[in-house]
Amino acid sequence: MAPKTLKYPPRVNLAVRPTPLQYLPRASERWGRGKRLWIKRDDLTGSTLSGNKVRKLEFIAAHAQSGGYDTLITCGGIQSNHCRATALVAAQLGLQCHLLLRGDQPEELEGNYLLDQLAGARISCYPAKRYFRELDALFEEWEAYYAQRGQRALAIPTGGSDGVGIWGYIAACEELSADFTEHGIPSANVVCASGSGGTQAGLTLGVELHGLPATIWAVNVCDDEAYFIDKVNEDMADVYARYPDLPRVSAQPRVLDGYVGQGYAKASEAVFDLIAELTRLEGVVLDPVYTGKAFQGMITELDAGRFDDCEDLVFVHTGGVFGLFPQAGGFVGTETDAAVNDIATE
Ligand SMILES: *Cc1c(COP(=O)(O)O)cnc(C)c1O
Repeated sequence: MAPKTLKYPPRVNLAVRPTPLQYLPRASERWGRGKRLWIKRDDLTGSTLSGNKVRKLEFIAAHAQSGGYDTLITCGGIQSNHCRATALVAAQLGLQCHLLLRGDQPEELEGNYLLDQLAGARISCYPAKRYFRELDALFEEWEAYYAQRGQRALAIPTGGSDGVGIWGYIAACEELSADFTEHGIPSANVVCASGSGGTQAGLTLGVELHGLPATIWAVNVCDDEAYFIDKVNEDMADVYARYPDLPRVSAQPRVLDGYVGQGYAKASEAVFDLIAELTRLEGVVLDPVYTGKAFQGMITELDAGRFDDCEDLVFVHTGGVFGLFPQAGGFVGTETDAAVNDIATE
């Protein structure tokens, strides 16, 4: 039996919590094959802070404050949701923020990148090749740079995924537990997107720690199954290394591979169509980088009988709306675009 209350590390209240667990009646009809489809609305954790990263940042920010750090350094793609959330959290707490972004400096101020700028983050852009080759060294250089100036900079890994950040989703399982009780869900399969693995790691460990009758599945949006199994195990080992009093449980990562498509942040026309269809059916907007692919993975696996062991299926909406706008061009020429043009010419 899992303990009733876990002792959490310090946490700064930043996210709007609890988020709703919402039933999707028309999506259940459309894709559910007799199952009930639910969505955990972590796209509602805030306005500009929306999405999954703020749950991790609640614990990371507390760690930064208690460690006397005055600057947060983190990294990601140009349209990184994690970088945007970190920049805004830093502004909200009066900390400095420095983002190491992968890619050439964009010409357009748009999406997450615009919000990074508004939040006053310092931004360094590195071409992808150099970024992948030198990321660790870049973090070290900048940490040393701030140290020389008498500042203390905390290096936050990609996606905030480490033994501190994953507490955000260990804690989210306590919320899910209350959601299951409230909505009469006896047991469920739970599906999320995996990009840096922290959400998956927190959920995978969290369901065991909280004794939640749920199986966690993650659809990878980059790399492959082997990569994410290693990464999730690494994050779970890190949480035990940092918090040795955490009760020992066995937790097994499960990855649904095969939905990356052409690559990270490259969605197929089918994913854009699916985003549009879910929006029309339920008024819920997914993104092309993470949640659109994860939802596609979930309904494809559902069709193939993957989730036949229980009647309820919960999709974790991890946010990402600001990454949708810079990819609006993905809808051009799709069914959605055709439908819009029909109406316009009637
Ligand atoms: C970062 C992100 C994910 C992936 O979460 P990880 O914890 O990095 O695996 C999923 N969805 C959205 C919208 C994200 O921004």
